[in-house]
Amino acid sequence: MNLKFLGGGSAEGIPALFCRCGLCREAREKNKYFTRSQLLVNNDLLIDFPPDSYYRAVCAGVDLADIKHILITHSHSDHFYPEDFFMRGLASSYGLDAEPLCIYGSEAVASALSRLANAVPYEEYRHKPKETFYGTTIYPQSATYKKVRPFEIFSAGEYTVAALPSEHMQSEPSYVYAVSHKGKSFFYATDTAPLSEKVYDFLQYGGYKFDCVICDGTYGNLDFDEGHMNFADCAETLKILLSRGLLSRNCKSFITHVSHNAALSLAQLESSIPECFSLAYDGLTVAL
Ligand SMILES: [Zn+2]
Ligand SMILES: [Zn+2]
Ligand SMILES: [Zn+2]
Repeated sequence: MNLKFLGGGSAEGIPALFCRCGLCREAREKNKYFTRSQLLVNNDLLIDFPPDSYYRAVCAGVDLADIKHILITHSHSDHFYPEDFFMRGLASSYGLDAEPLCIYGSEAVASALSRLANAVPYEEYRHKPKETFYGTTIYPQSATYKKVRPFEIFSAGEYTVAALPSEHMQSEPSYVYAVSHKGKSFFYATDTAPLSEKVYDFLQYGGYKFDCVICDGTYGNLDFDEGHMNFADCAETLKILLSRGLLSRNCKSFITHVSHNAALSLAQLESSIPECFSLAYDGLTVAL
């Protein structure tokens, strides 16, 4: 299984959209970016769909038409930007597979999608053949949605996925995901504050042995953990997973969703992450 971090930053990113702090200036000068968090798995599954998806995919040479499944952690705009699904249909996309793209998430994700559908007469146009424009008969396909419940295990093509409740927000169910594929598995845990015992119990009962763990490190070395984790929480999460026998011998660990508030410089950011972790900078690839 191959993982590629298309983005490893928090909602404002590094550099942040409108920021001139030292870290953001340095990131611009050195072209070292952490755009809004997103993970590509092999070439056909994404976790989250932030506003940077289009540009990060172009930069990384990723053909988004290959994507068959998207797991959405929650509906915050740095994780789900449904507006771009307009481009999957009408006169914007041709030559897609017969199976439509499937988006998995809570009902909040469904309502964001349906708000979009109500905004334009999408149904009326989405299966219009390209021959209308160029004389061929390739039908554009739209996206479909599947509701996911807390502690649900489901199949997304060849992937087996467990959706586990994150500790991020009260207004909707939000998820971290355990993903397994052909004998390998990883745990994607952002956005979340330290996880509940129930999540660890579920994973232990399920006999998971993760080959990779990805943690929310939004707060860096700051003494906060409301809705997110700091670096000490990431270390503690790994310790709990290890103590419960949930890590494979060569498990790789990454910190994602980093914020410009996490450090004063790139060097300080790099040097302050806990032992065993690496930073998920944009474009980082990992083979499991
Ligand atoms: Zn976020
Ligand atoms: Zn900044
Ligand atoms: Zn969030």
